[in-house]
Amino acid sequence: SGNSIDVRDVRKVFGAVDTGFVALDTVSVSIRQNEFFTLLGPSGCGKTTLLRLIAGFDFPTAGQILLYGEDIAGLPPFKRPVNTVFQSYALFPHMTVAENIGFGLEMLGKPKAEVKARVTEMLRLVRMEHLAGRKTSQISGGQQQRVALARALAPQPKVLLLDEPLSALDYKLRKEMQLELKRLQGETGITFIFVTHDQEEALTMSDRIAVMSAGKILQVGTPREIYDSPSERFVAEFIGETNFIEADLIAHDGDYATVRLPTGQQIQATLAEGHKPGDKVWLVVRPEHAQLVPAPQAMLSGTVENIVYLGTDTHFHLRLDNGPLFTVRRQNTRGVAEVFEPGQRAGVAFADGTARVLRD
Ligand code: ATP
Repeated sequence: SGNSIDVRDVRKVFGAVDTGFVALDTVSVSIRQNEFFTLLGPSGCGKTTLLRLIAGFDFPTAGQILLYGEDIAGLPPFKRPVNTVFQSYALFPHMTVAENIGFGLEMLGKPKAEVKARVTEMLRLVRMEHLAGRKTSQISGGQQQRVALARALAPQPKVLLLDEPLSALDYKLRKEMQLELKRLQGETGITFIFVTHDQEEALTMSDRIAVMSAGKILQVGTPREIYDSPSERFVAEFIGETNFIEADLIAHDGDYATVRLPTGQQIQATLAEGHKPGDKVWLVVRPEHAQLVPAPQAMLSGTVENIVYLGTDTHFHLRLDNGPLFTVRRQNTRGVAEVFEPGQRAGVAFADGTARVLRD
């Protein structure tokens, strides 16, 4: 197959098998060759545990991990064609950038000329040629990150595991390194498995994302699939901003449903599987799909509570008449006067087909 890693029914229990803590609850996922794959989920959901099992630092309680179709249970970490970049870069501060990058290759007993050539290639790949002779204690955090990446890529692993490698960097540098990592993955063709709790980071870099919660994988898909067609409420809530409206499912036809809003109005929405007419459902409306309109002709109406101006967009928080808050996001254009004010009555409208029906 074109799969690089197959995780099959993997369970990981810390402590006694029957009473211990279930960190991974029968997880299955296939990661393709040459893919930028992200494990995304809140703290404690099991991301690092899964990465450690792939690296061989720990063993599954049950299930299998296959690398190119072969069970790797018997292979110790150093024999797996897998390398890891940790959040703490774990560089040697007294060694130069070049020495750090070449260290692993020298440990493997590679000939000096080969190490030198490979280090030069890696320095170029991460754009650090000019700092080759500098001690790693004398370079910036972002530069250390590049060295850590170069060192991990130097032995040409088939799979690179990255455990929140950007979390120590400031916002601007993190954005820059996100694109840099994406470029490195593309240029090397190595499968990257990236762990993060940051949804924006996951959307920016990934070919596909696995959304995890409490030891389970809830959904695997491209950034667009995950954002536009979340499979359940947790996924919709974790990725991007979302409004939830309680609604009743009236009818459905394939991927589309007719739902009734609390105000009695009916609209069309896309549908995740497993619903039947009569079900109470959640209607998911992304803030950018909704518009503020004059209250009388609206699907939902309420009072503007506050308006947050963010430069590129403005967020309007509306207290709906039946209680919940609803956020509308509008892209700003220059020179257009604001028509809504806090305290004012307003309505919400969204086009047929932009909302999505989900179970709880
Ligand atoms: P974070 O983003 O905070 O690193 P994570 O999703 O990577 O979170 P894991 O580190 O995989 O989460 O941990 C999953 C759960 O397993 C956590 O509740 C954690 O406390 C627990 N856990 C991890 N390692 C052990 C261990 N050696 N013994 C007992 N429990 C553990």
